[in-house]
Amino acid sequence: MTGNITFTMIKPDAVSNGHAGAMIKMIQEAGFRIIAMKKARLSPEKAGKFYEVHKERPFYGELCQYMSSGPIIPMILEKANAVEDFRKLIGATDPTQAEPGTIRALFAKSIDANAIHGSDSDENAQIEANFFFSELERF
Ligand code: UDP
Ligand code: MG
Repeated sequence: MTGNITFTMIKPDAVSNGHAGAMIKMIQEAGFRIIAMKKARLSPEKAGKFYEVHKERPFYGELCQYMSSGPIIPMILEKANAVEDFRKLIGATDPTQAEPGTIRALFAKSIDANAIHGSDSDENAQIEANFFFSELERF
């Protein structure tokens, strides 16, 4: 069974480069409905909590620093088969490996500053959505 919710955030590089609008347009044109959205800034501690699953990986410290370096735009998105379809829309983690036309191929600068996050499972989509949004912020 596949769920109809995924979680994303536009990362600091894409917000500061002015790519957020173009990325949101692509997301909507791909059939995702925005259930919740805001502009926010993560503290290093909060970024560390969000990426806790990666805490043993060598890039964890830099990732937390980078994700707290500027504003982000977190969103909850709705579509049939949301998690898998959204991962296809954003492309591979490393933009040099991302399919042409994907969001990361178009907008990411590097494997670390890669423009956008997408949940990797239905379970994590729920956890990540709850990390940023209360029930009252979802429409
Ligand atoms: N990341 C990095 N170096 C790497 C792999 C990942 O800086 O070698 C960063 C990158 O920002 C990535 C995030 O850590 O988006 C989470 O990694 P993950 O493997 O979960 O990739 P994603 O699910 O975002 O494609
Ligand atoms: Mg991931």
